[in-house]
Amino acid sequence: MGVTQPRGRMTHAKMSGLVSFFTAMLKGKKDDFSDFIQKMLSNHQICKHLDRQKILRQESVNEEKAQEETRERELVACHQQGLLKGESQLKPSDFHFVKVIGKGSFGKVVLARYRQSGGFYAVKVLQKETILKKKEQKNVMVERSVLMKGLQHPFLVGLHFSFQTSHHLYFVLDYVSGGDLFFHLQRLGAFSEPRAKLYSAEIASALGYLHSVNIVYRDLKPENILLDRDGHVVLTDFGLCKEGVSVNGTTQTICGTPEYLAPEVLLGKAYSWNVDWWGLGCVLHEMLYGLPPFYSRSRAQMLKNILHTPLRLRSSVSQSAQSLLRGLLEKDSTKRLGERHDLAELQNHSFFLSINWDDLLARKIPPLFIPTLSDPCDVRYFEPAFTRLPVPASLGLSDMPGDTASEDFPGFSYTPPVEFGVTEP
Ligand code: ATP
Ligand code: MG
Repeated sequence: MGVTQPRGRMTHAKMSGLVSFFTAMLKGKKDDFSDFIQKMLSNHQICKHLDRQKILRQESVNEEKAQEETRERELVACHQQGLLKGESQLKPSDFHFVKVIGKGSFGKVVLARYRQSGGFYAVKVLQKETILKKKEQKNVMVERSVLMKGLQHPFLVGLHFSFQTSHHLYFVLDYVSGGDLFFHLQRLGAFSEPRAKLYSAEIASALGYLHSVNIVYRDLKPENILLDRDGHVVLTDFGLCKEGVSVNGTTQTICGTPEYLAPEVLLGKAYSWNVDWWGLGCVLHEMLYGLPPFYSRSRAQMLKNILHTPLRLRSSVSQSAQSLLRGLLEKDSTKRLGERHDLAELQNHSFFLSINWDDLLARKIPPLFIPTLSDPCDVRYFEPAFTRLPVPASLGLSDMPGDTASEDFPGFSYTPPVEFGVTEP
């Protein structure tokens, strides 16, 4: 992304894999739900002849309906009077935007202080115009839905809130202050094996959790792996497809660089959860050797390498690390490590022998690197190319003409009832 970076973040491949899984999942749920309704209805037929029950039921339905209408009227009245602070839309001016900490093709990620509580958040600000131009509304909603699913895992970023103005969409996320692995790898070249081992185990644990709730992350790369203030991993960026790979039937367009994409994705074939294990292989390779596997300056060559060149590993890393890399970076997805038993298969690999997975989940394994931060606004682990950027005035001015509160991305905005009301987030 920044000019100083050898491999630009903005041009990195982005994918919309979550969309299809999500759609499939929602479809599955919808089908189950209609089955359930059908069953309910047929059971109710049994009581049909019982007039008394029918009348009673009708009465209770009427009562419920009336209560619901009253509740709705009250809610509208509260909104009109601006009384429901906790459930009404937040606006940009509720935040003080401190520093730009990241940039993507739709907008920026900004460190911001919520004025009411003084708490710090990472606010991802996306430009509606760019999203609409690239026809990416669906993927924004996927990211929102994934974040909104109430996913709770120690190594996944939390979304607190989302809102919109006429020009922007805002995601209010946990601020993860230790920077991303791209930043750290750029400075160190590579990590020691024990350091890479803990990161890859924590990433694997987060991916295993996502898979267990039917989500494929699909966009694993160092830029999306952050370190928190204690040095533990946090995955961010849930699935915006920008200029990434779009697969249209049999043809596919690959924009951006394919370095973390599994062969089956590049070929537009059906893929499964184990594209994430390929992604983990790429990240682990980069952590240990300083470059992704199959890397070439030429994009076309890299593509060829990923698809056809056998994996070559230097012996500078342990045998068990090499064996794990070979398992994860298996081109044939049906033979890839994790294909059969997902996370459990990785957990049993010799590379992770020293990892106690319960301790890992409890964040009890001490990281070898702990970020040093002088204050909550210390952005030393973010690219100066971003942090030096002026915070765009438009971000903080919801009252400015032309950028007023808006709902033209229906269903995007979300305020948890309590969190951003009067209490501390
Ligand atoms: P997309 O547009 O596909 O959603 P993106 O790459 O533009 O993705 P992110 O990956 O979400 O956006 O964020 C860009 C960068 O901002 C990250 O690489 C990271 O450095 C920083 N960042 C993102 N989220 C956070 C966060 N919660 N805390 C701290 N920094 C973050
Ligand atoms: Mg990203």
